[in-house]
Amino acid sequence: MADVRLDFYDLDAEDLPDVCMRCGQPSTVRPVKAFSWMPPWARFVPPIIGVWFVKRRRAPIPLCDQHKNHWSIRYLIGLGGLGVLVLLAIVGGVVYAIGDGEDPGGPQSIVGLLLLAFDGFLFIAWLITLIVLAVTQINAVEITDDTITLKNVHSDFTRAYREMTRGSITPEVEEIVREKWDQSSGRRRPERDEPRRNDSPPDDKYRRG
Ligand SMILES: [Zn+2]
Repeated sequence: MADVRLDFYDLDAEDLPDVCMRCGQPSTVRPVKAFSWMPPWARFVPPIIGVWFVKRRRAPIPLCDQHKNHWSIRYLIGLGGLGVLVLLAIVGGVVYAIGDGEDPGGPQSIVGLLLLAFDGFLFIAWLITLIVLAVTQINAVEITDDTITLKNVHSDFTRAYREMTRGSITPEVEEIVREKWDQSSGRRRPERDEPRRNDSPPDDKYRRG
C-alpha cells in the first residue's frame, strides 16, 4: 500500500486511471467520497477554532467489484456490530435478572451470565476489527489548496496515475526535482560546474571586448 497525491485538476476532469485503489485490478465503479483533513497544528488548538482550518475535498475513488464496498462494509460492521452488541447485552441482562429473581444461581441466571460474557468477548473482537479496518481504510493524509494525498492506495494505482500525468508536472515530480536541485546545490556542486566555468571565459572575453 502506498500514498498518492492527486491534483484537484485531475479530480475535476475525472482524469484518474481505471485501476482499483485497493488491489490494482481494473476498476468498475467510481464512488465520490468526501474527505476531510485537519492540519497537525490545528489539533492542538480548541476544536471550535481548529474546525475552521479543516480542509475538505470530494474525490472519485476507482474501485473494482470486489472492493466497491470499501466504505459500506466499515459502516455495516461499525453500526451493525454495535446494534448486535447492545441487543445481546439487553437480552443477557434480562435473562439473568429474571432467572436470578426466580431461582438465584439457577440454570437461567447462568445462561444470562454466559450471554453477557459472550457479549464482552464479541465487544473486544469488534473493537479490534474496527481498528484494523480504520488503519487499512483509504483516507486523506493531507489536503492542500490544490492537492489531496490519500493513504492505503495500491501501488499499481499510484504507478498508473503517475504514467497518466507524466506529460504535465505533478506536485510529486516537482518535489523530486526540487530535492535533486537541493542535493546538487550542496557541496559537490562547484566541482560539477567546474568544466562549465572553464567554458565561460571566452564568452566573458567576448562580452568585455
Ligand atoms: Zn479491487
